[in-house]
Amino acid sequence: MRPVVPFVSSASPDERQAWREALPQALDGIADVKPFEDLTDDERTAARVAIVANPDPANVAALPNLIWVQSLWAGVERLMGELPADGPKIVRLTDPQMAETMSEAVLAWTLYLHRGMPRYVAQQRQKIWQDHELKRPQERTVGILGLGKLGAAAALRMKANSFNVLGWSRTEKSIDGIACRHGRDGLLEVLGKSDFIVLLMPLTDETRGLLGRGELSACKKGSSIINFARGPIIDKAALLDALDQGPLGHAVLDVFDVEPLPPSSRLWDHAKVTVLPHISAPTIISTASGIVAGNIGRYFEDGTIPPAVDRDRGY
Ligand code: NAP
Repeated sequence: MRPVVPFVSSASPDERQAWREALPQALDGIADVKPFEDLTDDERTAARVAIVANPDPANVAALPNLIWVQSLWAGVERLMGELPADGPKIVRLTDPQMAETMSEAVLAWTLYLHRGMPRYVAQQRQKIWQDHELKRPQERTVGILGLGKLGAAAALRMKANSFNVLGWSRTEKSIDGIACRHGRDGLLEVLGKSDFIVLLMPLTDETRGLLGRGELSACKKGSSIINFARGPIIDKAALLDALDQGPLGHAVLDVFDVEPLPPSSRLWDHAKVTVLPHISAPTIISTASGIVAGNIGRYFEDGTIPPAVDRDRGY
């Protein structure tokens, strides 16, 4: 008999429905994927692995013999906060397609800033016909904070598009063609030299509020920030001050402390802020289902569990 893999999710009904169609197809011949609500008591007890997407933690707890969970998202700070430390191992989604999609977003929004689009949009509203000096990518530096699966791909893509690239990570890194920095001094150097600063790191105890008043005031005059990571990594009051009084020229924000961004937020109407509804790199169901099927197939074949999140490190 084929094993049953629970699908535990409190995502939106549309999202759940899409996964309920894609996952059984991808895992065909490997396991039967069943929504948590449809499991029998025996199936709950027998489950060793579950697929999760914004799960109700009580439902995960109702699977007493789980060894690991496969998340359908790349960011796992919520799961880490909600599942007990001695609970199942957490495996996040790492999909090369997501790195490709994210690096495309980094390129798109860096070019948006590099070509001065916010200024030209504002000029059009005021019917102002005025050109501004055009710099070449070779004269611009992109700073990428976080050099993991997504950051490294974005750094290489920016390099391939002729930008200078500075990268920053927690531990020392070496990536061909990218000047890599780490540590506090490294962060201040990257902030001070970059025209465009791209955030691609996880939300952890260490990165929460990482960019506060001191860090933002160390940014290069007129530079811009692109946050594709998590909202709470930037201190919002400090960001607004850095936009209103300098040194920041613009912020492209895809992620927020509260999502959807409440209508009362000042960020919506700020002339120097571009608000995006968390769209820089959505999980692509077709490729992600294939990755999940591969991981679960290997587990049932030889017991291999993919690399799990390090609870102490926070990612
Ligand atoms: P990853 O492979 O785990 O890489 C994380 C990177 O961040 C690593 O380079 C890591 O340093 C660095 N880092 C972690 N803590 C740090 C710290 N305290 N100081 C400096 N650097 C630190 O993660 P990923 O797959 O690239 O994803 C990154 C994040 O992107 C996710 O956690 C998620 O929040 C976000 N994301 C957003 C979207 C969206 O649509 N907006 C989509 C997907 C993901 P080391 O290399 O030294 O370990």
